[in-house]
Amino acid sequence: MKSKNDLKISFNALKVLQKRYLLKDEDGNIIETPEKMFKRVSKAVAGADNLYNDTDAYKTEKKFYRAMSGLEFLPNSPTLMNAGTPINQLSACFVIYIEDSINGIFNALKHMALIHKSGGGVGFSFSKIRPKGDVVKSTKGVASGPTSFMKIFDVATEVIKQGGRRRGANMGILDIRHPDIIEFITSKEHEGVLTNFNISTAVDDEFMNAAVNNEEYDLINPRNVKHVKKLNAGKVFDTIVNTAWKCGDPGIIFIDEINRKNTIPNAGIIEASNPCAEQPLLNYESCNLGSINLTKMVKSGKIDFNKLKSVVETAVHFLDNVIDINNFPISKVETETLKNRKIGLGIMGFAEMLIMLEIPYDSQDALDTAEKIMKFVTYHARKVSAELGRLRGSFPNFKGSIYDKNGFQAMRNATVTTIAPTGTISIIADTTSGIEPLFAVSFIRDVMEGEKLLEVNKLFESTAKKEGFYSKELMTEIAKKGSIQNIDEISGSIKRIFQTAHEISPKWHVKMQAAFQKHVDNAVSKTVNLPNNASPEDVKEIMLMAYKLKCKGITVYRYGSKKQVLYLNSYQG
Ligand code: ADP
Repeated sequence: MKSKNDLKISFNALKVLQKRYLLKDEDGNIIETPEKMFKRVSKAVAGADNLYNDTDAYKTEKKFYRAMSGLEFLPNSPTLMNAGTPINQLSACFVIYIEDSINGIFNALKHMALIHKSGGGVGFSFSKIRPKGDVVKSTKGVASGPTSFMKIFDVATEVIKQGGRRRGANMGILDIRHPDIIEFITSKEHEGVLTNFNISTAVDDEFMNAAVNNEEYDLINPRNVKHVKKLNAGKVFDTIVNTAWKCGDPGIIFIDEINRKNTIPNAGIIEASNPCAEQPLLNYESCNLGSINLTKMVKSGKIDFNKLKSVVETAVHFLDNVIDINNFPISKVETETLKNRKIGLGIMGFAEMLIMLEIPYDSQDALDTAEKIMKFVTYHARKVSAELGRLRGSFPNFKGSIYDKNGFQAMRNATVTTIAPTGTISIIADTTSGIEPLFAVSFIRDVMEGEKLLEVNKLFESTAKKEGFYSKELMTEIAKKGSIQNIDEISGSIKRIFQTAHEISPKWHVKMQAAFQKHVDNAVSKTVNLPNNASPEDVKEIMLMAYKLKCKGITVYRYGSKKQVLYLNSYQG
């Protein structure tokens, strides 16, 4: 195993790890180093090899340790926090079914509490709940509707977070045909409401066509599947657009596209996704994620595909092992998850990798690079999964899956790839999150007791030093301006490569999301940044573009809008 000195953890990474990840004793003293954490996780996850006679668990442990301690691959936060501990709940993503009954709703609430306690995020479709004002037979009363029930889930999340290691996160989804759809769309309009929820409307192709053509569509009561009334789809779409323009919510989920790409149509129809929408799941499924740090896959200014292949192999082995040792918080989740064994391998540090390759984010070259990398990752991940399937058995729903239909002999996992936000693990890996552009090249971080700390992106700092324009004064000026675009000392080509999220036009954000989506089994977490002066028309254009480019969903963030950011980041949260 590597010695302690080999582990290069940044200052911020260490702070994040100390606050939430490293084990503590009963008095709150940290009793683990980052090395020991990686060792704990490698040992626990490699332990799954002992269930089969096909590998040497000790060798596997060393392989896992090297990938994690080298910050080449990191699993999602619950795995880092809980593997090898009595909790041992290792998945980030869950979808829980909500039935239209008090019993069903409060069962789902309990399930949510158990999942949050163990560090997972939950997505729900509230579409089955009968609309506001509908009859309640047993009491002869009137129903209060899905939006009112969402508030209960929100309050429960708020209370549970006091005791958990990270603030809970939820996704609330409502079908566009639900009679309460307008109330739902505007439910986060006012500040301080549903703060523990991201919300998304599930729209189908028929609705999108009606919206584009300004036609009417039917609202259906889910209780008796009866038509309630008609609304103008164009107007409803505009309500989504205007509300998202105002406050960032709701997002949209393109549910038909999700189901067209469902790898296991034999197992059911997908209705919901996890909190950041990168992981569509069937009811009661969970999924564990992990991400490869692309900045570690660059050698002499080029992508080192041999290394990438080997890390993909390690990562798939790791993520599949996680399923075998996972302590599922609810038995129904265990049953459903084990039928399909979904994993979500993704990437982080994409923007920094582009900088290292001197490719501007908003260029055709960047889109081509995105496709090339993701196609490669998914291809090799599937190959490993097929081999694991041969050795350890296919996922039980394999028969009738698209793999079965396409001539695969075996497959261990129903899905292999997902692009996660990597909100916290990218801090641990000290790189840019997921496929997002740089957030800033230089900024001033507020640390405790009013102290301010200048932080410069490490790639920008080394470029500035190499090009001879580095000075603390200039870095401070850039941090204050928030941009390098009007700084004379910096050349045009450097300005082009170090563009930040708000300097990249919204359309390029969508193009990038779509490029990755082409080669990802699950979905892609991406925030489309819009300038403060963007109009609702701009938001509409982005949403329609995402649909046309076959994205599985879309979320926008207009700078300075009222978006109540759902903290995904243990460091901040
Ligand atoms: P991380 O970097 O911590 O591994 P990500 O930012 O990649 O996590 O988020 C992945 C998924 O993990 C989210 O979509 C969500 O399902 C879950 N998740 C993230 N943050 C939280 C949180 N604070 N509470 C519960 N679940 C979370």
